[in-house]
Amino acid sequence: MSILSTQDPDVAKAIADDERRLVDELVLIASENYASAAVREATGSVMTNKYAEGYPGRRYYAGTEFVDRVEILAQERAKELFGCDHANVQPHSGSQANMAAYFAKLSPEDVVLGMRLDQGGHLTHGSPVNFSGRLYDFVSYGLNRETELIDYDEVEELAKKYRPKLIVCGATAYPREIDFERFGAIAKETGALLMADIAHIAGLIAGGVHQSPIPVADIVTTTTHKTLRGPRGAMIMCKEEHRKSIDSAVFPRVQGGPFMHQIAAKAVAFKEALQPEFKEYARRIVENAKALASGLSAGGLRIISGGTDNHLMLVDLTPLGVNGREAQDGLRAAGIITNRNSIPFDKLPPMVTSGLRLGTPALSSRDMGVQEMARVADFILEALHGLDDPVELQRIRGRVADFAGAYPAPGVTDA
Ligand SMILES: *Cc1c(COP(=O)(O)O)cnc(C)c1O
Repeated sequence: MSILSTQDPDVAKAIADDERRLVDELVLIASENYASAAVREATGSVMTNKYAEGYPGRRYYAGTEFVDRVEILAQERAKELFGCDHANVQPHSGSQANMAAYFAKLSPEDVVLGMRLDQGGHLTHGSPVNFSGRLYDFVSYGLNRETELIDYDEVEELAKKYRPKLIVCGATAYPREIDFERFGAIAKETGALLMADIAHIAGLIAGGVHQSPIPVADIVTTTTHKTLRGPRGAMIMCKEEHRKSIDSAVFPRVQGGPFMHQIAAKAVAFKEALQPEFKEYARRIVENAKALASGLSAGGLRIISGGTDNHLMLVDLTPLGVNGREAQDGLRAAGIITNRNSIPFDKLPPMVTSGLRLGTPALSSRDMGVQEMARVADFILEALHGLDDPVELQRIRGRVADFAGAYPAPGVTDA
């Protein structure tokens, strides 16, 4: 930090403030985590300097022998971790991974089946404001209104009716286990390819607490920075028969030079995820999510679908008479970081919403357990009841900082 603070005190100060925030605040954003000091060291390494267009052994530039080594390590570790035939570790982000997967298998205007955005799907699953919705003819499936679970019968009906070339499963705000086997059966029956986007739950799958799509999906895309707790980035896994088309879609069709420093950090993160402690971490994420959901439910909030099987929950704030935006802002003032989120069949617009999405991956990385989740639920409920009182929110903020500051923040307090 010292060189940076001398050369560029403005940026150094912003980073130092962000470090402070990561210690003092309760991060409940379901897609965020604390990458380890080792992962962060790799992201800050000299490999950021290297151009390495192509793949190991087949590069367009000289001087790639060491970056080749880390890319091969990342590929091999990913294959061991998920049991896939092939892993392309170059995608810069989850959206880029999905773009490359679509480019590998689809032509413009092909029919694709994906999950509705306002019921848990991702922007890249066919939103009209995203390239996916602009290039392809997406048909959307959603949730059952009563159970708030994915309506697999509807997926099957739509697949039979529209005969999509590709079915996309996986979500960004869905609190229940996804039945990849059922998706596999529907794809098989209707002659569609199946792509599973496991960006959110990759760490749970690697840790053995969520079923894996690898046996049934043709292509599996994931980010590496969510529950997987690696550097910001992504990868694509696929069956051997799709290897060539996936690799050429990532480079040269969608991306140029790979981020070798990020790939080095992915290799480090995959090694961490292969350790027995990571299984324990994944188990604890889910245990903590259940504990937090039951604490909030006891405090009068409605938990969408009645609970959670994974790392996140969707909370309906309607019983307290507040909306998602007010809640997000008030909790933020109290040092609790969340995001507003539409609930299924939400009556309020997406910029307001009736709900919050809360996740436990980051707090679980700080060694918090079910007892701490009870405290966190109490902090949240107190803040939600005090939204009109800035002084009260400030008081809670102080108590939150005292509480949170006692827990290690990986990659921050040990870096
Ligand atoms: C987060 C996410 C992505 C996109 O990842 P970015 O790295 O933000 O581009 C894609 N799909 C799903 C399901 C996600 O949750």
